[in-house]
Amino acid sequence: MVRERTTVVVVGGGPAGLTLAALLRRCDVPCIVLEVRSREHIDKRQRAGIVEYQVARMLEGWGLADRLLGDAPQDGCLELRVDGAPYVIGDNAIGGTLCPQQVLVRNLIDVLLDEGADLRFGAAEVALHGLTGEQPTVTYRDAEGELHEIGCDFVAGCDGYQGVSRVSVPEGVLDVTTHDHGGLTWLTVLADAAPPRHPLMAVSDLGFAAHFARGPGASRFYLQCGAAETVADWPEERIWEQLRHRLGDPGLSAGAVTETEVFAHRSVIHDPMSHGRLFLVGDAAHIISPLGGKGMNLALHDADAFARAVRDAVHRDDRAGLRDYSRVCLQRIWRAQEFSQWLLETTHAAGDFAQAGPFRRGLARARLDRLTDSATAGRLYAELMAGLT
Ligand SMILES: Cc1cc2nc3c(=O)[nH]c(=O)nc-3n(C[C@H](O)[C@H](O)[C@H](O)COP(=O)(O)OP(=O)(O)OC[C@H]3O[C@@H](n4cnc5c(N)ncnc54)[C@H](O)[C@@H]3O)c2cc1C
Repeated sequence: MVRERTTVVVVGGGPAGLTLAALLRRCDVPCIVLEVRSREHIDKRQRAGIVEYQVARMLEGWGLADRLLGDAPQDGCLELRVDGAPYVIGDNAIGGTLCPQQVLVRNLIDVLLDEGADLRFGAAEVALHGLTGEQPTVTYRDAEGELHEIGCDFVAGCDGYQGVSRVSVPEGVLDVTTHDHGGLTWLTVLADAAPPRHPLMAVSDLGFAAHFARGPGASRFYLQCGAAETVADWPEERIWEQLRHRLGDPGLSAGAVTETEVFAHRSVIHDPMSHGRLFLVGDAAHIISPLGGKGMNLALHDADAFARAVRDAVHRDDRAGLRDYSRVCLQRIWRAQEFSQWLLETTHAAGDFAQAGPFRRGLARARLDRLTDSATAGRLYAELMAGLT
């Protein structure tokens, strides 16, 4: 057994864990990142695509925006197509940065390795011990099969919803709020297809569809589908035919489909986001529907809040930030959940496919009318997307 010591063990090397490590380094707080997968695996994992305005400002404040976001394009507008009629809403002055998650992750790893950070890939059998004591430890087996035990002051659980951190908290300690959005389901499609001019969402008689950029020659599409459907129900011809109809774009060019997945929407929130000296960060603490593009952004806001709290505890013996960590993060998380749920209900209940009934359908149509008619409603949408409110 190799025995080591650091201040923070960061479990998980996704957007939350890598960002946290980069911020802790800027606060002179030693940390070790343990990631179960290989660098090659996490480098390629495609998910989110927009770094919101407020997160880009946060990264700027830490002196990281240039290295992490480079010259990725900005866009603050949304194109909404309602039964084929196009509306552009939003505000480019508070636009998000179109930076695919895997690009952000790759850039974070480059920054950390250039700085000599302690990133350990292929860390198996990670286990957390003594979380409610003064000196927790984290054990793992390295790629050569050797066991390590790292003593630390804090454990940051950044290992997503499937990780070990969340389940290391004894049952009943955290309140868990879950919501399944009425079984709402999407087929998600990644394709080598030209991105749209602006992020695009469409309401149609056949259901919701969306088209988002994932780099210069790649797109992510979403198609509302039945809860019992599987990927096998969606051959490529059906995907493109449905997209052309729902997006109101008969000329939409097909591209090679590189990934398809059926995805059931759900929300999960853990409260508080800590247990003893374990602090949950990002998806380990909360899951949100991808509509609204908040998941990765919330993970980065959590990392920012936790890094500041640890800095104050370590260098100023001030624990107020750690005590407030959950409260501060949860306020933002609930606001994001509200925005995402509102957008989901508005864009899905408005179509016939959801069988939402005449009342919910009428309300959703009224919300779409307001969004496309009123500059004030458009401005509020832009601020919500930007993470400003
Ligand atoms: C299809 C899809 C589309 C999405 N679209 C968007 C979007 O448009 N905008 C947006 O903001 N968000 C989006 N999200 C959500 C976003 O991807 C997540 O919120 C984000 O990845 C959370 O980052 P994280 O670091 O908290 O968790 P993760 O990205 O899950 O990273 C956790 C890391 O921990 C590692 N790990 C797991 N278990 C262990 C263990 N036992 N030991 C060590 N390491 C471990 C994992 O390998 C992983 O690298 C989307 C998600 C999906 C699935």
